[in-house]
Amino acid sequence: MTTPKKPLITQTKGISQTEITNTASIPELKAKRKQQPDAHNLVASILNKDITALSRAITLIESNNQKHYALANTIVKQCLSHANKSVRIGITGIPGVGKSTFIEAFGCHLISKNKRVAVLTIDPTSTLNKGSILGDKTRMAELAKQKNAFIRPSPSGNTLGGVAQKTKESIILCEAAGFDVIIIETVGVGQNETAVHNMVDFFLLLKLAGTGDDLQSIKRGVIELADAIAINKADGEHNKQATLYKNSLAKALSLYPEKLSGWKPKVTTCSALNNEGIESIWNMVEDYKNVTTANNYFHLKRQEQNKFWLIDTIETRLKANFFSNQHIKKELEKQLKLIEANKTTPFAAANYLLSLKY
Ligand code: GDP
Repeated sequence: MTTPKKPLITQTKGISQTEITNTASIPELKAKRKQQPDAHNLVASILNKDITALSRAITLIESNNQKHYALANTIVKQCLSHANKSVRIGITGIPGVGKSTFIEAFGCHLISKNKRVAVLTIDPTSTLNKGSILGDKTRMAELAKQKNAFIRPSPSGNTLGGVAQKTKESIILCEAAGFDVIIIETVGVGQNETAVHNMVDFFLLLKLAGTGDDLQSIKRGVIELADAIAINKADGEHNKQATLYKNSLAKALSLYPEKLSGWKPKVTTCSALNNEGIESIWNMVEDYKNVTTANNYFHLKRQEQNKFWLIDTIETRLKANFFSNQHIKKELEKQLKLIEANKTTPFAAANYLLSLKY
């Protein structure tokens, strides 16, 4: 008997890995996508756990074409009452820490426990650098083959805010499609972590011992956001170093004030490559959910996050509308020249520009 050929898993623009793996050929998918989408049918298919419909709806959310906004909004709204049932986990760490290896091991573990797992990535570097840190390579090939997994590469966008808002809406659709665990992956650079922290229930930071990655660590910042820190690559010769690092991080964390969640952040070691420590990290997530459900923090945090995204979306849209307006663009150029010539102050120029009708 011949072994079936492994599907070639690449990231074709707007089409998920799982979609490629699970369904027809790319030309067939593209032809299907050209048909006029219908909100009602798409929502019905999403609720029916149809991955192709889910992918298609996410593409509408990610679209920068104004014509798709209303349709995308209708779909998200209709899915809303079916959402909210998952655990949302943010996973971050520097490039090379082992995020994709970890998510693959973690995701496969969850699937073995009969969970359905969606992985969404936030990677605004892709548009800024014309090459994505997360998206360009073949990632999580094993997980992508699982019928209970859905992997979606980062949407494109010029701003982190824009990219993050799209991901926030995609979470709702994934939940409506019955995914129990939603993993939001991001590269640990810049503001990404804060954006992800604002859309997940549990925030996991992956770290490495004995590299530049541990120099920053005792400082506050991302560490403070974490509900758990896992020192990855705790295998072979790195094992001892990882344990020492774990102990020093645990000590540092114990000095931080108690969190509103009532949860004390945990530090652990793991080897994503050897599948070690993976189960205990999932147990931590479950413990966290039990603690925060009991004290109602889980629910309150999601409410607060929704309020945050309301304000954040308004700010992003206002800013985008303002700076893309032709009249404003011309006047802004003039004001910049006046500033160069020392003929106005930044505040006076800002007041003037903000007073313009557009
Ligand atoms: P990412 O950039 O954070 O997604 O990192 P990758 O998952 O692509 O991993 C980067 C490299 O580290 C790859 O060569 C992995 O095989 C390796 N790696 C990941 N996890 C482990 C681990 O637990 N132990 C060891 N020894 N290597 C690992």
